[in-house]
Amino acid sequence: MKYYILFGPPGAGKGTQAKFMVEKFNLIHISTGDLLRKEMAAETPLGKQAKKLIEQGYLVPDDVVVGMIENAFASNTGVNGFILDGFPRTIEQAETLDSLLKKRGDEVTKVISLAISDEMIAERIKHRAQIENRADDAEPETIRHRIATYHEKTEPLVNYYKAQKKYHEIDGAKSIEDVFELISKELISK
Ligand code: AMP
Repeated sequence: MKYYILFGPPGAGKGTQAKFMVEKFNLIHISTGDLLRKEMAAETPLGKQAKKLIEQGYLVPDDVVVGMIENAFASNTGVNGFILDGFPRTIEQAETLDSLLKKRGDEVTKVISLAISDEMIAERIKHRAQIENRADDAEPETIRHRIATYHEKTEPLVNYYKAQKKYHEIDGAKSIEDVFELISKELISK
């Protein structure tokens, strides 16, 4: 089973690229952000709890997202593999993922990182706010907080996966088509 992590800051294009990857490589896309937004839309207790944190640009607790990942693995059998988008976002989550996969006799296959500058993050999020109507995309203060959280909590994963020789970086500022071509090359190569 393949376990790809699609890594990068908010606005890097992870969701867009994941859709193409699903079509071409028959993978299951697991986006913790999308799953949380579904919970919020359905106004479940979990959704209500997550809403306040998400709308301020904070991370939701690890056990919440880890539970979602476990459910998604359990309910999708007989597939080629998974694309994890928006997870892991902290070293603790990465360690939990490693032990989860170890129990399944497996490991992370590759981390594909879409790199863009902070200026481009802010620009892309502003643009997305006009299309997707996401509350966490609308407020400048929330956007600033999400970028800061990314640098503080998520970026340390770069070295974590470099140490495991699993980290592959792609220039996320290129066109959607060019980025997908580079991702495809990574998925095809060993
Ligand atoms: P995203 O769509 O990936 O940008 O996620 C939107 C928001 O959901 C994030 O800003 C976090 O508040 C929350 N979230 C998504 N994934 C995680 C995660 N792995 N750990 C903690 N919070 C998350």
